[in-house]
Amino acid sequence: MNVYDGMRIAAMLRARGMTETSELSDADIIILNTCSVREKATDKVFSALGRIRLAKKPSALLGIVGCVAREVGSGAFRRVPELNFVLGPQSYHKLPQILDNPDSPLLNIDLGGLEKFDEMPQMDSSPAVAYIPIQEGCNHVCTYCIVPFTRGREISRPYADVVRDTKHAAQTGAIEICFLGQNVNGYKYENYRLSDLIRAAATLPKIKRIRFTSSYPTEMTDDLIEMFAIEPKLLPFLNMPIQSGSPDVLKRMNRPYSLDSYIDIVNKLRVARPDIQISSDFIVGFPGESDDDFQQTMDIAQRIKYINSFTFKYSPRPHTAAAIMPDQVPENIKKERLYKLDAMLSEIQREFNVSCVGKTLECLCEGADKTGKHTIYRTPYMQQCIVNIDPNTAPQMAKIKITNANKASLRGEFA
Ligand code: SAH
Repeated sequence: MNVYDGMRIAAMLRARGMTETSELSDADIIILNTCSVREKATDKVFSALGRIRLAKKPSALLGIVGCVAREVGSGAFRRVPELNFVLGPQSYHKLPQILDNPDSPLLNIDLGGLEKFDEMPQMDSSPAVAYIPIQEGCNHVCTYCIVPFTRGREISRPYADVVRDTKHAAQTGAIEICFLGQNVNGYKYENYRLSDLIRAAATLPKIKRIRFTSSYPTEMTDDLIEMFAIEPKLLPFLNMPIQSGSPDVLKRMNRPYSLDSYIDIVNKLRVARPDIQISSDFIVGFPGESDDDFQQTMDIAQRIKYINSFTFKYSPRPHTAAAIMPDQVPENIKKERLYKLDAMLSEIQREFNVSCVGKTLECLCEGADKTGKHTIYRTPYMQQCIVNIDPNTAPQMAKIKITNANKASLRGEFA
């Protein structure tokens, strides 16, 4: 979502005749697009601001947009007096105001509008993957999570607007559509659901791959699960965070599903698409998490065989219930648990990657690798596959035979 927001902001400034620079000292405006989901992310923003204010030219405008702006509000001006603007995740379309009126500080951290989607210029999809936001905010109140405070209650965009944006993306070069939302499978507009959006995107011949993120487990409804059976363009990959394998911890997290009901959904998905791969987010060291609770997380991760997962140490956040729960877990235990879980997940990932060797997969080109000499492709399971071909001549979609694998990536050649 933040990558998308950043692209949107860049497009807005380009439309005003501005160009990008990689030199901080050369910039006329510097914008930090921020995340506040963990404390470390918020801290990084303020340490970056400290560096930037020394390196920028005195006339350059400096501001933060996104969730930290919303979290800290006017306090940001007090902490960093050089700031010119502080705009929340639903008000970054107000940015031109600071360009027109650079002398008055701009603060807007309002929530609840889809205005930003309507007021900003439509973006051409120059990369092959088009991110299309379909809803924003979240009505689940997970006790660790600051998102309901920073992005607000759920709002779904009108079906016709999403379909229009999807068509525009296809016409301007998109091959893959990624529908976005904090609670993407909670999309509800009149009688339309996420499954209707997938069906509509799949009718566009130029679109070859469709995916969506992030999903809430109990909102994986049967109509959506069925799409994995009937819509071949929908990738066989799904991020469906379980967070913890302990029923007690899940209860305290206010994630009201049982392990059985979660496993039931996974089983239905695997019936619909036998090769589907599931990814999860995990939080270790949630308040009160015992060794036994943590072991249950290890057990469920092994049982589901998650790939491409994200793991986090619990971080207390303002405006959340868990931050004031008793039995906060000490940092060294969080670290140890994170290390154990990561080691196991990466072994599962390695096993899956190795199981792909010898297979031929239809992959999407992502661009050059770090050396600039090879090309990175994405498999349908979202693994990286490196192919020994000049990125300038690499086809956008290709059938690739997997020749080698380790825990981080695959190697392949054109089949
Ligand atoms: N559904 C949201 C989730 C964003 S946060 C979205 O896609 O925008 C991504 C992940 O960060 C969560 O799934 C959770 O595992 C983790 N997370 C959220 N709050 C956290 C906290 N306070 N401490 C540690 N990890 C957290």
